[in-house]
Amino acid sequence: MSLILKEKIFIGSFIHINKDGDLQIVDRAAIHIKDGKIYRIVSNLELIDTKGKNTIVLSKNQFLIPGFIDCHIHAVQLPNIGIGYDKKLLNWLETYTFPLEIRYADEKYAKQVFNIVVNQTIKQGTTTACYFASLYSKASVILGKAAMDIGQRAFIGKLSMNERLPNDYYETTEKSIENLNKFIEEITNLNSPLIKPIITPRFALSCDMELMKKLGKIAKERNLHIQTHISENLDEVKEVRKKFPNCSSYAAVYNEAGLLTNKTVLAHGIYLSDDEIKLLVDHGSTVAHCPSSNTCLKSGLCDVQRLKQKGVKIGLGTDVSGGQSCSILDSMRQALQVSTHLSLTKENCQALNYKDVFHMATIGGAAALAIDDQVGNFQEGKEFDALVIDTSVGILNNLRDSTLEERLQQFIYSGDDRNIVEVYVHGCKVK
Ligand SMILES: [Zn+2]
Repeated sequence: MSLILKEKIFIGSFIHINKDGDLQIVDRAAIHIKDGKIYRIVSNLELIDTKGKNTIVLSKNQFLIPGFIDCHIHAVQLPNIGIGYDKKLLNWLETYTFPLEIRYADEKYAKQVFNIVVNQTIKQGTTTACYFASLYSKASVILGKAAMDIGQRAFIGKLSMNERLPNDYYETTEKSIENLNKFIEEITNLNSPLIKPIITPRFALSCDMELMKKLGKIAKERNLHIQTHISENLDEVKEVRKKFPNCSSYAAVYNEAGLLTNKTVLAHGIYLSDDEIKLLVDHGSTVAHCPSSNTCLKSGLCDVQRLKQKGVKIGLGTDVSGGQSCSILDSMRQALQVSTHLSLTKENCQALNYKDVFHMATIGGAAALAIDDQVGNFQEGKEFDALVIDTSVGILNNLRDSTLEERLQQFIYSGDDRNIVEVYVHGCKVK
């Protein structure tokens, strides 16, 4: 991680979603950063004293946006990216995913992969990542260390699963809790403000009710975040209903276990009923929309507008390697495409636009992870997690006089990581 420069001033344009939820475009201002946080934002540049401070003046082709937030990514699955999309979820898990995940008993392999995961996601502008790490607590700690050393803000989830799988790829309930507690201690002992443990039952088919209840209890006692999957695939939903006949729905299973809290993020949520959505809203639980894996594994088309209208907070997840890219920019595009396809086939369904996905990738993601008081936009007092976007490089050009808002659109629809020229987390330059 690069050295923390105590004070820094950016002068130039910035774009974000402001505290009222509106897209705000600021042509020229100074953002003054102290100890990693936004100390002051000043639009009258005469009022800012740059003397003795590290001052960065952005070019006319550059602007700042808040860092991207990936609400759902499996660090262990990166080696499988782009493979197995001829299968559907349950078959894909057995054929490709579990055999790969077993390899993380080897700590050397874990270290090698996790360094690449953190570096690649930072390169793509992910300043906060909510990771599914490994079943193995040692490997999961290695991911926490990699994120800390490289300087990414991250939730690290040691997977909990006690349902028997081939090759002993599971833990007994007792071992599962023992290893989870060890993992939480070790992550806490890293003593990094950037790295937090998150309770991670893989999904309802991987855990029995006893284990899930124990996990809910640990989350409550230690005030921890929770992540899992919900309602991703119709066969999965059917299996969950069969496995828990006394629960009225998939969401009701998690509710019974005490896993629905205002710090719970649920990946997918494609087939949630109105009652399930109400359960989520009542508990303040949120959804990580994963359009890439929903498409690649042919899981379904998630109607994000329906969830939003009913009051669910939504962030975006790359869901590597069900998803075929670790870039949130790609997820934004895929969310736009899926939503457009839905609007073409479904009555009274309005497609998402670039502002909606920009929201989901930044402050929306922060809200989905219940860290919107810390990151997600440019507000005084918040952490400075930001990207410098340059729309004159890579595939983009300045052959026309585009407004700032048009340049944001060009970046969202047609840009790539070459346009993300600098990345900052907690005021530190990490790209
Ligand atoms: Zn997933």
